[in-house]
Amino acid sequence: MPESYDPADLLKLDQEHVWHPYGPMPGRSEPLLVESASGVRLRVVGPDGNRTELVDGMSSWWSAIHGYNHPVLNEAAHGQLERMSHVMFGGLTHEPAVRLATRLVEITPEPLRHVFLADSGSVSVEVAVKMCLQYWRSTGRPAKRRLLTWRGGYHGDTWQPMSVCDPDGGMHHLWSGALPEQVFADAPPGGYDDAPDPAYEAHLRELIARHADELAAVIVEPVVQGAGGMRFHSPGYLRVLREACDEHGVLLVFDEIATGFGRTGELFAAGHAGVAPDVMCVGKALTGGYLTMAATLCTSRVAEGISEGEVPVLAHGPTFMANPLAASVAVASLDVLLGQDWAAEVRRIEAGLRAGLAPATGIAGVRDVRVLGAIGVVQLDHEVDMAAATRAAVDAGVWLRPFRDLIYTMPPYVTGDDDVARICAGVLAAAQGA
Ligand SMILES: *Cc1c(COP(=O)(O)O)cnc(C)c1O
Repeated sequence: MPESYDPADLLKLDQEHVWHPYGPMPGRSEPLLVESASGVRLRVVGPDGNRTELVDGMSSWWSAIHGYNHPVLNEAAHGQLERMSHVMFGGLTHEPAVRLATRLVEITPEPLRHVFLADSGSVSVEVAVKMCLQYWRSTGRPAKRRLLTWRGGYHGDTWQPMSVCDPDGGMHHLWSGALPEQVFADAPPGGYDDAPDPAYEAHLRELIARHADELAAVIVEPVVQGAGGMRFHSPGYLRVLREACDEHGVLLVFDEIATGFGRTGELFAAGHAGVAPDVMCVGKALTGGYLTMAATLCTSRVAEGISEGEVPVLAHGPTFMANPLAASVAVASLDVLLGQDWAAEVRRIEAGLRAGLAPATGIAGVRDVRVLGAIGVVQLDHEVDMAAATRAAVDAGVWLRPFRDLIYTMPPYVTGDDDVARICAGVLAAAQGA
């Protein structure tokens, strides 16, 4: 940025011209202007030019698991930049893509063997859906083209993903007649440690059985429903889904875009249940928070079904598919993650969040406090006053982005104990201020 930029000017232009996520135009709330970021700290410039540092409680929407400006990830990016930032992936290949795909096959559940590199989480879900529908078309069951999910989910903002987002949170009423109409089960009840509810299990089995002839796949976020409400459920339900899908000839898709790479305490949330899906989406933490990248993995059965069909190809190929810069940083991020005792770090943060968020139960208006892995959630009994809650957290030196009735944190795994405590203080301040 030029030396002479005027923060107040930039913020004014931002408000006039730049859409922000889930925002109106022109913008009604003022975003914070970030100048740089390093480790777990964001350096923020006020309109008056004053600089402050905030401890990041969000990992930039759960992706920057090693913090910002990480020397190993920086080096991977620099090195790749010198070789090539990008080449098309049609008819060409390169080391970063092959290494990334191979690595993903090694660390994900056993039957997943083939990798489609997509350029965002939403696109990886589009690809997953395309794979499932095409599998059934190719194997002579074209009527199997609907999806089943449970309420309370989030799978991205493009069209197919939107159709399986929570119908209320995803505002399906706005889109009735336009979005594909999928089959919705009730939201999974209880918390992570609660015994599976037999009545709910029966509900899942019954719906899958009833719609089996038209269902291509069941798609869910395993164990943690993220942006749809930050709710945890018993891994037992995933075993029920696997059994019912096998029994009735329905594919099972796990969207691990939020949960993958250690966030819940297992490398993948599927590991809590010991269940493998037929198709799996990963993204977010895959990138180390540097450059957009996601992946859809599938089993040989799915790949062969598609590749032996009437149109024996998967017709999908984004311009920036397998971008070498993003792929090399993703490989470096996996090296950093797996080269340390990441599970111990996640457990350490989990303990810090449990201790630091416990006092929230005593705050008026707090309905629930829950922690799983490096995820801490305070749920209110009312809609968050987002401006007030954010301001209270910022005043406590912490960056949080509450939504709906939720104030939550997913800190980078490198967050030290003092900074975890500070983030918790920020969450409590936000809960008090909201
Ligand atoms: C964030 C998210 C997505 C969408 O990923 P984008 O990269 O934002 O398109 C899909 N599914 C889940 C579970 C997510 O958390």
